[in-house]
Amino acid sequence: MITVLSGGTGTPKLIQGIKETIDHSLINVVVNTVENDYFSGVYVTPDIDTVLYTLADLINDETWYGLKDDTFITNEKLNEFSSPELLRIGDQDRALKIQKTMLIKNHSLSQAVDIQRKALKIKAMIRPMSDEQSDIKILTPQGEMSFHQFLIKEKAEPDVLKVVYNDVEPAPGVIESIEESEIVIIGPSNPITSIGPIISMNGVKKALKKAYVVGISPIIGNLPVSGPAAKFMEATNLPVSSVGVCSLYEDFLDKFVIDQEDILLEKEIEKLIKEVTITNTKMRNIGDKVMLARTVLSGIL
Ligand code: GDP
Repeated sequence: MITVLSGGTGTPKLIQGIKETIDHSLINVVVNTVENDYFSGVYVTPDIDTVLYTLADLINDETWYGLKDDTFITNEKLNEFSSPELLRIGDQDRALKIQKTMLIKNHSLSQAVDIQRKALKIKAMIRPMSDEQSDIKILTPQGEMSFHQFLIKEKAEPDVLKVVYNDVEPAPGVIESIEESEIVIIGPSNPITSIGPIISMNGVKKALKKAYVVGISPIIGNLPVSGPAAKFMEATNLPVSSVGVCSLYEDFLDKFVIDQEDILLEKEIEKLIKEVTITNTKMRNIGDKVMLARTVLSGIL
């Protein structure tokens, strides 16, 4: 079996490739939960829902949010009645979120996600990183902001002074999944806001040190492929490069996959970890995704 640590954009792209490469029942995904929150009365678990839709072949993979071909009738009505929704939630997507909101009244988040995974006929296992309410705050010169306020309302424009998240315990099965996997993949997700919260939980780094761990850089050159990772890395005093990402993971990483454009960084990264693989990591189409998945999984295929 394999375990993939995931956020809601870069790693789901890789999961689309992994899904074409190995038996789905061998795949375990541990998903970031720090962005979970209530919006328009429903509990939204953005990264978990993206992973659910990715594995069910329903994801809108232009926005990496919600379902492809969804409608927005409820969103338009809500916007007519009051100020626009901070998150623009599609109708079918809202149905899943309403169901999850009802389920968590008498189930843990892990149980609720498992019920939804089965309803979507997904064979892979999906685990929230934690069943506790996690939280992330972005400190800016304009004050403290929630993740979504920073990203959507403020369009990720303010400078970032610090990123802070609370301590939560891993959900049942998270540590075991890492310990029992032949390979653990740290997907090309935001190292500060998506992977950071997962690896900082109690016991996760200890389990990763014993596992065979392969990471993929979300940074090419001095820029993330998408999103605000650069601002968050700068605020954490990390160089915005594959070297910066690798230095966060070096204690437990066995292999780091970097983009071919970063070939000149190979020697520097080899000072941090044992093995570096250089390939195309830009996942523009399914061919790129499958190629990268095969490279990452080469040891066990
Ligand atoms: P979030 O939860 O929506 O923030 O998404 P993630 O944390 O999962 O992913 C965001 C990161 O994915 C960004 O830092 C991007 O640089 C990275 N990313 C997105 N697409 C690609 C890609 O095709 N290749 C690589 N290497 N990284 C990517």
